This record gives sequence, C-alpha cells and structure tokens, in this order.
Amino acid sequence: DIAFAARGITKSFGPVRALRGVELELRRGEVTALMGENGAGKSTLLKIITGDYQPEEGVLELDGRAVTFAGPGDSRAAGVRVIAQEPEIVPHVSVAENIFIGALGGARFNRSELLDRAGEALERWGFARVIRPELIGSSLSPAQRQIVEIMRALVSGPAVICFDEPTSSLGDDEVAILFTVIRRLRSEGVAIGYVSHRMAEIFQLADRITVLRDGGLVGTEKATDIDDDGLVRMMVGRDLSQFFQ
Ligand code: ADP
Ligand code: MG
Ligand code: MG
Repeated sequence: DIAFAARGITKSFGPVRALRGVELELRRGEVTALMGENGAGKSTLLKIITGDYQPEEGVLELDGRAVTFAGPGDSRAAGVRVIAQEPEIVPHVSVAENIFIGALGGARFNRSELLDRAGEALERWGFARVIRPELIGSSLSPAQRQIVEIMRALVSGPAVICFDEPTSSLGDDEVAILFTVIRRLRSEGVAIGYVSHRMAEIFQLADRITVLRDGGLVGTEKATDIDDDGLVRMMVGRDLSQFFQ
C-alpha cells in the first residue's frame, strides 16, 4: 500500500551527481529506513521530496498519481512533511509560536490560547517533559530545536513524514519518546521515511530498508530479511566483516 514514491530521481550539483535514478517507496503503516554512507544522497532525496530541489529526471507520486512540488508549501499542502536535519527556529518567539508558524492558516490566536494548544500537543505526543511551550526560540538546546521541528510536522497531521537523522542531537530520553511517536504514527497508518546510519535504530524501527551508495540505488530489503553484516555490505559495496573480527 504505497502512499508515496520517488521514481527514477536524478539530481546533480555541478559536476557532482548526487542522485542517479533513485527509487524510494513509502508504504502506509510502515517505517522505511533510508540508509547510506555520508554523501550517499539521502538528504538530497528528502529535499526533492519536499520540493526544495527539483530533480533533473524522475517523478514523485502521491497515492499513485504524479505530483509536482514547486516548493515546500506544495508538499506541506499535500500532507508530506520532512523533519529537517537543521531545524529553522525563529529566535525571538516562543516554542508555541514556532510550532504553529504556518500551521494555523492565518487564523489569529491570542497568546494564552496558543500556549494552551502547544501545551496540549506536546502532552499528547509525550514531549511535555522535555520542552515547555513558553520557552523562547533563541534559548533552546539542539535537542529542543529538533523537537520543535518534529512537533511542527505532527500538528499538521501528515499522511507522509520523513525524518532526516532525527536523533543526532537527541539524548536517550528524547530518543525513547521519539521512537514511541514513530510507532504511534505507524499504527495510525502514516507512511514514514527514516534516514539514519545508526544500525541499532534501524533494526528497532524499520520495516523495510532502502540503501543508497554514491547517489545510486543499491536496493530495498525487508528488515527481517537482512542482518547488520548484510546491511554494511549493501552500504559500502563490499564485505567489511574482516575488520570487525
Ligand atoms: P547524505 O545526506 O547521504 O550524507 P547529501 O544528499 O547531503 O548526502 O549529499 C550527496 C552529495 O551531494 C554529496 O557529494 C554532497 O557534497 C553533494 N551536495 C549536496 N547538497 C549540495 C549542494 N547544495 N551543492 C553542492 N553539492 C551538494
Ligand atoms: Mg550527510
Ligand atoms: Mg544527510
């Protein structure tokens, strides 16, 4: 049950061929991990999915129909959200305002209403213990910035959500909350993409694993059909187990 697909995607930056004919399918109610070494093209693919970049070749499909996202506004309107690796936080406003920026469609809320809404949303998704809605953007830790970025996506009720190495700035406590969030999204039928090169995370979360290497697609495997040695082999293109003995 494929909610979203990127097919035959090619993208270059000058002489660098960042993606060469890559395929990614995101299924409803599944976590699809996107793996590959640094520079493999993972973030570039996510920026094509949001409409931040346009591919030279290839198509995006939502519910089996080709879609064009001219910019992030288009992907958001279609219910497709990507949690950026480097969240953009407005420094001089609160967490509550940062979460709902762009989400309230121009509706005006007074400050206490907005704080209440943000507080409820943080409570509902389990983050209330680690961030408060009245904190000011500029005072946030890297982990809290990442949580704001995650909450922005959650409050929009996305059909498709992709995380780009979301745990790199999170502590153990926050990672545990995030994994609970992701499992809940999965059980609600959301199609989830999860970029990481942390093998342990992948085996905890992923239903399927798509591997990129040097901008090319290596393949997609069911998580139950592959072990960590096999995954490393897909990522680097050769057997490295000798180095770990
Ligand atoms: P990953 O997320 O897998 O680490 P990226 O998608 O960030 O990989 O990068 C893939 C390749 O494209 C790398 O060689 C990177 O240097 C290059 N690249 C990515 N974004 C740009 C850009 N905006 N301009 C030039 N080169 C880029
Ligand atoms: Mg990288
Ligand atoms: Mg990246």
